[in-house]
Amino acid sequence: MTQTTSYTAPDENGFFGQHGGMYVSETLIAALTELKQEYAKAKADPEFWACFYHDLKYYVGRPSPVYHAERLSKHLGGAQIYLKREDLNHSGAHKINNTIGQALLAQRMGKKRVIAETGAGQHGVASATVAARFGMECVVFMGAEDIQRQAPNVYRMKLLGAKVVAVESGSKTLKDAMNEAMREWVARVDDTFYIIGTAAGPMPYPKMVRDFQCVIGNEAREQMQALIHRQPDVAAACVGGGSNAIGLFYPYINDTAVRLVGVEAGGLGLSGSQHAAPISSNSPVGVLHGFRSYLMQDEFGQISATHSVSAGLDYPGIGPEHSHLHDINRVEYTAADDKAALDAFHALCRFEGIIPALESSHALAWAMENAPKMDKNQVILVNLSGRGDKDINTVAKLDGIGL
Ligand SMILES: *Cc1c(COP(=O)(O)O)cnc(C)c1O
Repeated sequence: MTQTTSYTAPDENGFFGQHGGMYVSETLIAALTELKQEYAKAKADPEFWACFYHDLKYYVGRPSPVYHAERLSKHLGGAQIYLKREDLNHSGAHKINNTIGQALLAQRMGKKRVIAETGAGQHGVASATVAARFGMECVVFMGAEDIQRQAPNVYRMKLLGAKVVAVESGSKTLKDAMNEAMREWVARVDDTFYIIGTAAGPMPYPKMVRDFQCVIGNEAREQMQALIHRQPDVAAACVGGGSNAIGLFYPYINDTAVRLVGVEAGGLGLSGSQHAAPISSNSPVGVLHGFRSYLMQDEFGQISATHSVSAGLDYPGIGPEHSHLHDINRVEYTAADDKAALDAFHALCRFEGIIPALESSHALAWAMENAPKMDKNQVILVNLSGRGDKDINTVAKLDGIGL
């Protein structure tokens, strides 16, 4: 193993190089500072991690296996593709790792009410799930437009006992839901904990979410060692806000023999803004939702409307640590477009009997494009961040089939 560099980000103020920080109103600074202190205490307490790993084992079903996609690899005729099966987690994706961690922290801080933002509804469902598990009140903010598009997830949240609040401002989608959740937090910071769904937002969220999601990469390291007696040549993950990707990448950061690839949503192509790929499209730095990072915006600094076939990647920004890892050239960022993701989706269904989330299909698309250019004894580890049951209506529609 080559461990050459020593990576220490973020700094004391939550900056990953020029990205990150805490760009919020006065009222939230006090709340975030308190959260930072409480999290530091929890992090140093073995009891906190014992509760976390207990729930990951008995409630989530971890460790998730690493699976050798043998038939797919053989079909492609190059590198061996292995899948980290986050799709097998309770509630169907990696998001539960983070919501368990934040709910435990909320409980520790004596908060009886949690709020969350959601776009496609996946983080809303993961938050409603842990709120039910820990007996907390849960309110999920969701754009009115997304509520229309994601009816089954809205009903799931309600079944789990959460209240879903329709956000009617702006484009009535994820970014507006996050604005509203932050406003609500300011108003009720005394009894409310805000569970952010990805490795973004103001300090200390990006680091905290990374810590909770690192279980993915930590397990993968052990599992690869057991399976092939070494680490993969490449580890690849899709990047929306960046939580599943940083969870896989972080335990590999100082291991520079492992190439790390983050795959953004290329949508209909990188020219114009019909995509959600801020780094691959060379977007400038901007501030949104309390942090500084590469951000899709027009010449006047207005946030661009984005497009991706996968709702979970459809966000104009990217977590600050990814922007930094791009700046220091530790992670390569690239994009897979809608069509490549759909092709990968179908290929995994047919070659392996696994229906992947459309988000994860972007990482898989990169592997399918690049495996044939690699040697048969090389290994690509793909983070299969979630299962695709939620996406079958979208795929059917795109394939011209009514369900
Ligand atoms: C939400 C989601 C993503 C994108 O979020 P990240 O924070 O970038 O990981 C990816 N995959 C699945 C299955 C999701 O639900």
